[in-house]
Amino acid sequence: MDDQEKIHLLSQELIPIIDDLDEETKQIVLEHIEECDKCKKLYSEMVDMDKEIPEHAYDEDVEIKPLKKLVQFNTGLKLLLIAVRIIILFYISYSSFRFHDLESLDQMIAAFQGGILLFYFPAAVFLLVFTFTFFNKKWLWISLTADIIIIFLFGNILQSFI
Ligand SMILES: [Zn+2]
Repeated sequence: MDDQEKIHLLSQELIPIIDDLDEETKQIVLEHIEECDKCKKLYSEMVDMDKEIPEHAYDEDVEIKPLKKLVQFNTGLKLLLIAVRIIILFYISYSSFRFHDLESLDQMIAAFQGGILLFYFPAAVFLLVFTFTFFNKKWLWISLTADIIIIFLFGNILQSFI
């Protein structure tokens, strides 16, 4: 076996991992590839395979994207449901604090509770039906508990602080 054949045998082994070789070894293999049809063929097959891998990864990415979007959409909806509640509470607080002077705190709390019943309660019912339709039970129970606390206890808690 002459040196050229030895290099050929080694190249056959090394071409699949050519990118991981030391620069000097890689140069020796590349020089051999230039002179050897068999190794050239193997090398070009490997380069073709390398090109296919990113395309493959891209395909998988496309398949994953809708699921990722759905999860993002789901999280977005949950945040929206929370945001709607907070906005309504802010509105009720703002209007009950604005239309009642600070001397009549009882009146202010009554206005706040009235606002809760008039605005928050119907909105909560709608949001809970929405939650029941689109989300799991755990999220429904969390929403229901939060709404019950807000509707029935928030005014009382507020009152006990004043
Ligand atoms: Zn060769």
